[in-house]
Amino acid sequence: MTPERYAKIMRVLSRRQPTLTVLMDQVNKPHNLSAIIRTCDAVGVLEAHAVAPKGGKLAEFEGHTFEATSGSAHKWVTVNRHQDAAQAVRDLQAQGVQVLATHLSQRSVDYRDADYTRPTCVLLGAEKWGVGDEAADAADGNIIIPMFGMVQSLNVSVAAATILFEAQRQRLAAGMYDTPQLTPQALADRAFEWAYP
Ligand code: SAM
Repeated sequence: MTPERYAKIMRVLSRRQPTLTVLMDQVNKPHNLSAIIRTCDAVGVLEAHAVAPKGGKLAEFEGHTFEATSGSAHKWVTVNRHQDAAQAVRDLQAQGVQVLATHLSQRSVDYRDADYTRPTCVLLGAEKWGVGDEAADAADGNIIIPMFGMVQSLNVSVAAATILFEAQRQRLAAGMYDTPQLTPQALADRAFEWAYP
């Protein structure tokens, strides 16, 4: 471990946003999952959440495609696994996190109108059928990226990046990258894990 490497680890961890996360509900293509994790790393997400696709295993995402397309970001963003998206939504809410489902409904708002300086989880849906109804109903709000083209939806990793960089923009303006959001103990623990994996 060189001093430069350790300084980089400390610089990155001092900008990590433990109160910003995503929940991937059965995102079933490894390259999409890894692209989302890569964006999480860039924006400063500390930990992400995922529900494995029905009939599949999240472990499949630890294979070659996942590692090749995440650009090693999976080493720096912990992915917590859940069995059920609606239950994961309730668990996050119990920790004081607002869950915003990327879901078209009567109550959907433009994603730019949400307040991402609050503890926030962005709920992302599966490529084929989107966010499940139960999880979307349990969410605190539904957000949507306005679409004016012939195609109805974006690729899930593109949608994730669009929303997470809006969250980054708001958090930058609020000064949330200027001082560490991790407690000194959590930062020290994570620095040790990253430096000596
Ligand atoms: N047929 C699916 C549906 O009806 O929801 C389309 C799913 S889309 C390909 C996959 C995921 O990308 C969605 O569940 C959502 O998380 C995200 N997504 C795609 N387009 C979006 C948009 N315009 N606004 C917000 N999220 C979007």
